[in-house]
Amino acid sequence: MAAEQTTTQVQPAKPQAEKQTNCLACNKPIRKLKRYYRDGKFYCNKKCWKTFIAKSKEEAQK
Ligand SMILES: [Zn+2]
Repeated sequence: MAAEQTTTQVQPAKPQAEKQTNCLACNKPIRKLKRYYRDGKFYCNKKCWKTFIAKSKEEAQK
């Protein structure tokens, strides 16, 4: 019985997305019409922006 050979396609790691498409707070894809722009980053809305700010502050304090 011959060993099965499976050809697995090794895909190179995708480069970091040049355009930010996901919210930094909840990681949901951001729609064009619904987005909140702050400090060069995109978020779903103001709430997500605040969430992200709070998160980063929390991490900075640790
Ligand atoms: Zn969000």
